[in-house]
Amino acid sequence: MADEVEHLRVTYNDIHNLIRKCTPKIAKEFNPDLMVAIGGGGFFPARVMRTFLREETEHKALQIQAIGLSLYEPVEGTSVNVIGHEVIRTQWLGPNSGKLLLGRRNLIVDEVDDTRKTLHYALSELQKDVEEELLTRPESERAALREATKFGIFVVHNKNKGKLADLPADTPYFAGATVEDVWLDYPWEAMDIEEHDRLAFADRKSKT
Ligand code: 5GP
Repeated sequence: MADEVEHLRVTYNDIHNLIRKCTPKIAKEFNPDLMVAIGGGGFFPARVMRTFLREETEHKALQIQAIGLSLYEPVEGTSVNVIGHEVIRTQWLGPNSGKLLLGRRNLIVDEVDDTRKTLHYALSELQKDVEEELLTRPESERAALREATKFGIFVVHNKNKGKLADLPADTPYFAGATVEDVWLDYPWEAMDIEEHDRLAFADRKSKT
């Protein structure tokens, strides 16, 4: 059966430039002091963004922490991945998760917001860790600590489509670009990067 989903090839330089363009806004409006990268797609964008954030924030130290989540499940014996119903944790922040996040402005970073299930899961679970940590603090300090703890979201691409999960309206949300409901081919998935870039440029040329 023919693959009818439209693909959009994205190059490393495209991603780098999208991140450079939107980082000043993120620095101004959210000013993160910790990044939580969702692996594997959020790792490269988080690392690139740190370069630009450090430039915007007079070289503020910015840790990148990693979590691993998977909505797609491999089909055994094949190279095919199918969409799963549940987000699966493959890596988390460890027993001190809440302590790490508490009182900080935490920017969750992923490469793409598709159904939104992954971002919803990441945000709500990280918030649960914060609530658990708050229970260990004196009651008189909890409200101020909760207030000081913020979450924001950055994705390189947001797909313009109906989402299967919501994010709280007051969560700062930044996307490098909004695209239609296409399948994005990221450079880190390419076996031959020169061929990937060549095809990306050819696709672009054919559309102009
Ligand atoms: P969600 O549906 O939860 O928003 O996205 C789940 C995950 O599916 C993403 O983190 C990403 O790994 C993968 N994904 C969704 N859409 C695309 C796409 O267009 N291209 C690629 N390469 N991965 C995608």
